[in-house]
Amino acid sequence: MNAKTATYSPAYTLVPTYECFNRCSYCNFRTDPGKSDWLTLADAEAQLRSLQHQGVIEILILSGEVHPQSDRRSRWLQHLYELCDLALSLGFLPHTNAGPLSVVEMAHLKTVNVSMGLMVEQVTPSLLQTVHRHAPSKRPELRLQQLAQAGELQIPFTTGLLLGIGETEADRWQTLEAIAQLHRRWGHIQEVILQPYSPGQTEAWASTAFSPAQLLATIAVARRILPADIALQIPPNLVSRSQLLACLDAGASDLGGIGPHDEVNPDYPHPIDAELATSLASSGWKLVPRLPIYPQYDQWLSIELRNVVEGWRKRLGASRVQV
Ligand code: SF4
Repeated sequence: MNAKTATYSPAYTLVPTYECFNRCSYCNFRTDPGKSDWLTLADAEAQLRSLQHQGVIEILILSGEVHPQSDRRSRWLQHLYELCDLALSLGFLPHTNAGPLSVVEMAHLKTVNVSMGLMVEQVTPSLLQTVHRHAPSKRPELRLQQLAQAGELQIPFTTGLLLGIGETEADRWQTLEAIAQLHRRWGHIQEVILQPYSPGQTEAWASTAFSPAQLLATIAVARRILPADIALQIPPNLVSRSQLLACLDAGASDLGGIGPHDEVNPDYPHPIDAELATSLASSGWKLVPRLPIYPQYDQWLSIELRNVVEGWRKRLGASRVQV
């Protein structure tokens, strides 16, 4: 049997801070500003050193947001930069997702990231009256502006939809159309995550999970709306194994970063990649590791970053075309 291929990124998440000035009702991540210590560089280094030679490639720098007008904003940005720089110096490939950034901030972080990300979630403004009532960063026009800004800066980008937070089906199609349009202009969206809302223990909202049937329908429509060079990503910890196989059959091709802990959905542990690979193999799917930057974007990197990426591509093997 010829195996079909699904990709994933062997990853580890560093959280510079859990504090966030937004209060999305479904959030299981945030703390109030000033209520938790920031991750120190020394602690980050200890964590990263313990991961060396363990197969981890991507370091996801996932941060709560310090308000753009806060006098701590520049210190926070510099801290993100230093964490990325540290990860690079230890041979990893950083990918930062830290909310909306100014053009100067994004350009600064581009120099120490091989790709970056920001979920669009949904473009309907109606959510600003419900789950995003206290989340000014979730204004749809700001999210889309961030995608355009990343395109202008030639940053390989990951975005996605959060599904089942009060949007209609038509809203979902509109969000996909908006992403497709930006990609047609800038060509920088490497993957789109379809993240089904999955209730957690610490959120205020606690609604019902997005249904597997609707997820399959969304994948099918996303595959029609999005250009073919954008991979569709499904988080494997948020669906059952049989649903995951159905998602792959419906057109998803990537499982995103898999590491020891899902910081956004802490109640849903990631599968162990080796076990997942074995399980998928029994259904004819080969699970293949990839880098957090897709090959067509290597030319956008500085020489320094490109050298690190090329080293990883060689290590993963020239025969793996998806790497
Ligand atoms: S979901 Fe993200 S932006 Fe919203 S409150 Fe949580 S950490 Fe902040």
